[in-house]
Amino acid sequence: MTSDHPVAPGSSGTSPSPPPGETSSAAASLDAELLKRDFPALAQEVNGKPLAYLDNAATTQKPEEVLAALEHYYRFDNANVHRGIHELSRRATEAYEGSRKRLASWIGANGPEEVVWTRGTTEAINLVASSWGGANLQEGDEVVLTEMEHHSNLVPWQLVAQRTGARLRYVGLDDDGRLRLDQLPELLGPRTRIVSVSHVSNALGTINPVREIADLVRNHGALLLVDGAQGAAHHPVDVQGLGCDFYALSGHKLMGPTGIGALWARRELLEEMPPYQGGGEMIRIVEKDYSTWAALPHKFEAGTPNIAGAVALKAAVDYLDRVGPEAVLRHEQELVAYALEGLREIPGIRLFGPPEPTERSGVVSFSLSDAHPHDVATILDTEGVAIRAGHHCAQLVMKRYGVSATTRASFYLYNTREDVDRLLAGLATVEEIFGAS
Ligand code: PLP
Repeated sequence: MTSDHPVAPGSSGTSPSPPPGETSSAAASLDAELLKRDFPALAQEVNGKPLAYLDNAATTQKPEEVLAALEHYYRFDNANVHRGIHELSRRATEAYEGSRKRLASWIGANGPEEVVWTRGTTEAINLVASSWGGANLQEGDEVVLTEMEHHSNLVPWQLVAQRTGARLRYVGLDDDGRLRLDQLPELLGPRTRIVSVSHVSNALGTINPVREIADLVRNHGALLLVDGAQGAAHHPVDVQGLGCDFYALSGHKLMGPTGIGALWARRELLEEMPPYQGGGEMIRIVEKDYSTWAALPHKFEAGTPNIAGAVALKAAVDYLDRVGPEAVLRHEQELVAYALEGLREIPGIRLFGPPEPTERSGVVSFSLSDAHPHDVATILDTEGVAIRAGHHCAQLVMKRYGVSATTRASFYLYNTREDVDRLLAGLATVEEIFGAS
């Protein structure tokens, strides 16, 4: 991956990362303290304490550059895309399509027409389940999912299975939060049409061996969708190298705005798939009884899109690319190692997910024997530490481990060891309150 903007991330103007082109080197590292200064939301106090934002698996904070791109678009370029023959529309279209090009090359797509803008991962998966699934699944066909999936990668398949009579089958989880890939060869049957799996688990942090899965699935003649909501933000993504057929991602998980995301798919699949929604922009000709479709990717983009979101997503991708996804992942894994060391000292703690930090991205999920996750989150909030408690939209994961909820801290490129210390100190307060009762 290379950067097309040879400037350091950040308003600070100093480079915390290696020069462009060296972002993939094994030596790349990042200076989280310096990067943090680029994120205005992180400079505030919450409940009288400096904010330690550890809820990045839910959504990430936005750097100045992304905020500036949004503002610039609305201040100067705001117009509808593709339609107007006037300067603002030209500028808006150029920025909007330029962002698509940037994302396409960043993830290794064969061209921008393979990238469909969506509201996020959820809509991207719904698009595939509804369009590809609706056209291709028949009664008795099988869709293979895993017990690790976010509801976004379960419910759309349940809906299409109900419509078509297809069957859903599941890869299980081992006790350490890894996929039971030994089960996959058996689950791939003569009726398997598609396998849909997360790149990285939002509830456990597990990084899945997508390439290995892709080889099995491809040899079997089925398709592979990868839910990259937690992948693209923390992990270098190369859709060709991964060997998948569909990759879904959300802009807000990688410092972009909410309401913008993308589906990447192989061109030949998109060519064959019917439109997902009807409306303006996605047609070529409209007659009384029928219409014909616009070229890719517009066939799947009905109505006025989230132009500002798409434009600002490019700023987020530029930022992430300059820091270097490899450096981000390594930084997160260092924080996970540090957090796990501290968490393991807490009496009555139960940790979920793989024991080795190198097997996961920046997520630590745990429960305490004495306190409910919601109480933990509430106490941490009073200490200015933002974490998440609940089922994390992964009820099958909760069921597998016999809990209704966990507490989850999730790190990103701007988190520091001090943030982890704040988490551990907050948990000591929880222990004082609940451990004594
Ligand atoms: N898949 C995973 C693994 C996620 O973590 C999330 C969001 O948390 C989603 C899908 C859904 O993403 P979005 O709500 O941005 O569509």
